[in-house]
Amino acid sequence: MKAAVFNGKHLRIEEIAEPLITETQVLIKVKAVGICGTDIAIYKGHLPTPTPLILGHEFSGEIVKIGEKIDLSWLNKRVTGEINANIDFDCFYCQKAMYTQCISRKALGIDINGALAEYIALDSYLLHEIPNEISFEEATFIEPLAAAYQTFIMMPVDKDDKIIAIFGLGKLGLLLVQVALLKGLEVIVIDDSDIKLKMAIKWGAHHSINHLKCKGIPEEIKKITKNIGADIVVDTSGNPDSLINIVNSCRTRGKIHIKSTHGIDVSMNLTDIVVREITIYSSRCGPFELAIQGLESGKIQVKRLISNIYNLPEIEEAFNSYERNKDQIKTIIKF
Ligand SMILES: [Zn+2]
Repeated sequence: MKAAVFNGKHLRIEEIAEPLITETQVLIKVKAVGICGTDIAIYKGHLPTPTPLILGHEFSGEIVKIGEKIDLSWLNKRVTGEINANIDFDCFYCQKAMYTQCISRKALGIDINGALAEYIALDSYLLHEIPNEISFEEATFIEPLAAAYQTFIMMPVDKDDKIIAIFGLGKLGLLLVQVALLKGLEVIVIDDSDIKLKMAIKWGAHHSINHLKCKGIPEEIKKITKNIGADIVVDTSGNPDSLINIVNSCRTRGKIHIKSTHGIDVSMNLTDIVVREITIYSSRCGPFELAIQGLESGKIQVKRLISNIYNLPEIEEAFNSYERNKDQIKTIIKF
């Protein structure tokens, strides 16, 4: 089969053997894979991984083969899969049902081979069926949308939380805008792309700030919030420089939530966080069931987040396209 293999420097299409399945696995014919910030970080060398490695963890496909212990009804089903494989169901975290934090876990496309290939073998406990209302392309958003929902699972919104500021309008930021609006929050978006800012406003965000065109983000946020600051500030920008702005944009006893900082080191003075009693949250993978419900009900719209679709042989071009166009949101590889 053909697979996009990262060798530590380049992504190359290679002809490799089709994966074999165990009796508790299924073989999925991959239909679509979304390129994620994590994939880009690996490609750019910011996130070290074992190599050679097949990248890709936001995927959808069809089951074409099942192991002996798998229920026959799974055959031919349209599915997506969770990213955390190799779960031991035995460790401290698994005993508390925190499977995404299992000490044995290996992330698809990061620690072990992922989905940018014609076929992927997957443990059946990772499978989720895709309802017919959701296309294969839309289904590549289930994993990141689950991560957006997880933000508010790890950080419950309480009655004093009215205004959220979302730094960064990539795919995750724009998914978070939609989830935050469903939570009834007033949404401020911050990015350097006027096109993305306009999109967010069109879809319901209340205020936008282009940080290249203002004197200071905290000052702009204070103007909107009667000089208090946002109740919740979420960073999806992965930009080390934005952290100081995030702290300064958050109100006293407010909440900061870090979503994406791929391999970034930040040095900062923590005094302001302590003195103003700001709580810092973080979150990662979330419940796929919630994300599937969000898409199936139409409450979350993702088709509009697809910027372009490439075929597998154009993989390196697809990865490089992010460098050239800051207005780009989501690139999908179609099989
Ligand atoms: Zn475990």
